[in-house]
Amino acid sequence: MNRAIEKSYKNKLAAEEGYFLKRGAGLRIALCYPNTYAIGMANLGLHTMYELFNRIPEISCERAFLPDRGEMAEYERSGTPLMSLETQTPLREFDVIAFSISFETDYLNMARMLQLSGVPVWSSDRNEFHPLVIMGGAASFLNPEPIAEFTDVIAVGEGEILAFQLVDTILESESRKDLLLSLARVGRGFYVPSLYDVIYNDDGTVFDYRPKADGVPRRVGRALAAVNPKEGTLRRALKRGETELADFLVNQEVFCPSTSVWSPAAEMGDRLLVEISRGCSQGCRFCWAGYNYYPPRVVPAKDILAKAREWRAKTNKIGLVSTAVCDHPEISTILRELRAMDYRISVSSLRLDQISDELLDALVESRDQQIAVAPETGSDRLRRVINKNLTNDEIVDICGAVFDRGMLTVKLYMMVGLPTETQEDLDEMFVLVERIKDRMLLAGKKFGRAGKIIPSLNGFVPKPNTPLQWDAICDEKELKRRIKYVCKGLSRIPNVDVRFMSARIAHEQALFSSGDRTVSRVIDRAATLGGDIGRALRELEVDSAFHTSRDRSYEEFLPWSIVDSGLSFEFLKEEHEKALQARSSLPCPAVEKCTVCGVCPSTWLADAPQSLIQIQPVRVREALALA
Ligand code: SF4
Repeated sequence: MNRAIEKSYKNKLAAEEGYFLKRGAGLRIALCYPNTYAIGMANLGLHTMYELFNRIPEISCERAFLPDRGEMAEYERSGTPLMSLETQTPLREFDVIAFSISFETDYLNMARMLQLSGVPVWSSDRNEFHPLVIMGGAASFLNPEPIAEFTDVIAVGEGEILAFQLVDTILESESRKDLLLSLARVGRGFYVPSLYDVIYNDDGTVFDYRPKADGVPRRVGRALAAVNPKEGTLRRALKRGETELADFLVNQEVFCPSTSVWSPAAEMGDRLLVEISRGCSQGCRFCWAGYNYYPPRVVPAKDILAKAREWRAKTNKIGLVSTAVCDHPEISTILRELRAMDYRISVSSLRLDQISDELLDALVESRDQQIAVAPETGSDRLRRVINKNLTNDEIVDICGAVFDRGMLTVKLYMMVGLPTETQEDLDEMFVLVERIKDRMLLAGKKFGRAGKIIPSLNGFVPKPNTPLQWDAICDEKELKRRIKYVCKGLSRIPNVDVRFMSARIAHEQALFSSGDRTVSRVIDRAATLGGDIGRALRELEVDSAFHTSRDRSYEEFLPWSIVDSGLSFEFLKEEHEKALQARSSLPCPAVEKCTVCGVCPSTWLADAPQSLIQIQPVRVREALALA
């Protein structure tokens, strides 16, 4: 045992409340977050899985993180194998190592953590005596292929649905081989990469995935936490005064993902984080979180408020986690009640078209966060390409509503390198930011001060399972030129402070987002080189551009298609074609019986095993039939 690391871990635990220490449980799970403690403890997925696993009597679940700078130096100096936080047990002594990965950029850290733990990184190098390595989290249904060969089982879908079935199968299986086959044969929710042969075409593209055993599906469906009411169904019921149906929907027994361990030393650790809804209805064509969490579902207000009451003695800060806070049909009730409890409210993101006066008032009152909005680009035309249906006039008005409340600093998220982008689109960014700045100065006169406009520029990275998945990322040199051009132009505007992400980082992200299994070697090598992806690519002679910088045809088998998101090919293709013509589409209605994108029960969920998919349980069907 290394004393310095032990001390660092014990200090972290001493600052926490609510962690679990279970002795004598039959199955030990090391729940790993592939980033540091400070970042990992701000992740609700990690809190959720930690709570869910530890609720199961047979399980003892401990956490492990990428060591922070001081700990890492100590691990490397002493050769100590990576340990869990709670009991400082080496990871290699656990039965299961379960990674929760929200961002594909953390794939490198996953490999690094396995290297540090002394557990072979490649599943083919492990045997019955090694821990089972599982991966879950949002990245699992985005594109798990770059780390598929590091992983024994990939949980495809939402953890609250998959955790119990996973544990049952582990406990019931006699051997690792039985376990892997049983999980793969569930047909949905569990992807076992070693049970597939990947067949490549001569040009290096994927031809197909062939299951190696009977009963293993050709494609693995996503499992959804589906007892939560669909956002549109609940909104309609409330709007139409259908109280019986509305009551029925909000009284479903749902799991409310929220902070489970109080950890003030972590980012946002001094506040209660509660997920109020999942998914976004707008269908912005670049946004993986929107499409990959279709259909948008909500946690009823009563469950959110119950959590808030439970935690109020501990904190007066609450963070509402959602891709579209104001879409929640009960948002007024939630805000009113939280303000009555004297909570300082912050939100994870604001969708411009839905910002309400009451939410702005609550945010101003709490003075707890900088307002960040996302115009994405400077031109109305390009916004139609990405299906963000707002005009520059509307954006300036919305920012004005923020400034008029005395919040004179806003952050603006913008992208460079979108498909069809022209020089005129880039120039329109300057016009838009100038107008927002002028509106800020006008409001500032009333308050006797000026604020700041902070544009944050990112290179556009095409994401799997979105309509822009077939597009290439803008060439690295050209992307660099465009970012530089926009930065320079914006920097000339007074009261503007530009931030940007480099073109190189955008390209690295694209490699992990769109790569196939051949990228695994690069990840493993780069992890040993301290994260130097460029050098790993050169050493291994892997052409990153093959994965990132070519337009893909509709006929190409996309590596991430092994995971079936439920979105139909026809829907995504039509949306892609509309993008290229700058034509917008209507939002997802998130109501029963809709068949537009293919996700809902009338299509692929209809024959799903009841234990996994409860998107339309019998009681809901009956209630809807009555309505
Ligand atoms: S099928 Fe309709 S309601 Fe369901 S996710 Fe797709 S667009 Fe939304």
